[in-house]
Amino acid sequence: MNVENKIELLQADITKIIADAIVNAANTSLLGGGGVDGAIHRAGGPEILEECRKIVARQGGGKTGEAVITNAGRLPAKYVIHTVGPVWNDGKYHEEEKLANCYKNSLQLAVDNNCKTIAFPNISTGIYRFPKDGAAKIAVDMVKDFLSKTDKIEKVVFVCFDDENYGLYEALLN
Ligand code: ADP
Repeated sequence: MNVENKIELLQADITKIIADAIVNAANTSLLGGGGVDGAIHRAGGPEILEECRKIVARQGGGKTGEAVITNAGRLPAKYVIHTVGPVWNDGKYHEEEKLANCYKNSLQLAVDNNCKTIAFPNISTGIYRFPKDGAAKIAVDMVKDFLSKTDKIEKVVFVCFDDENYGLYEALLN
């Protein structure tokens, strides 16, 4: 199957998505926050946080661009992959490369855990202020690149929350 046919676009609340893994735009504490992170922990319940605490006890917090995996508590997904997006700082601190790493490392962790379907929010484009157009391009490019190199992932869903992101992804994917 070609790469384009494995990519789906939705405007939705990611906590409602049925997939092997949904991705959380976490922060370095890995212990919850605002935006999509807050929504995932609220809807998923305390089991997710419990596993996050164990990870923090073992390895410390999360590093920007990296990803860890936990259960999904009460969510319909099987796993939550928590990745730490970069805070936008005028592009002076390798934010673009770090955002690409979020997508790449999340996809690799999904493959390592036999996940075939994965849903992404628009990492870093909320509280972390990464420009939405640049972030969408990085997300689409990295996902396409990854899918062209492995057949282990069957479906990637970009879950946009706001109209602006949805419009940007629609333009890039169609
Ligand atoms: P970051 O700190 O990485 O910027 P945010 O959670 O503030 O993370 O925002 C990331 C994106 O997630 C934003 O585009 C925001 O609109 C979106 N978002 C917020 N809540 C949800 C949700 N329930 N489902 C999907 N996306 C969401």
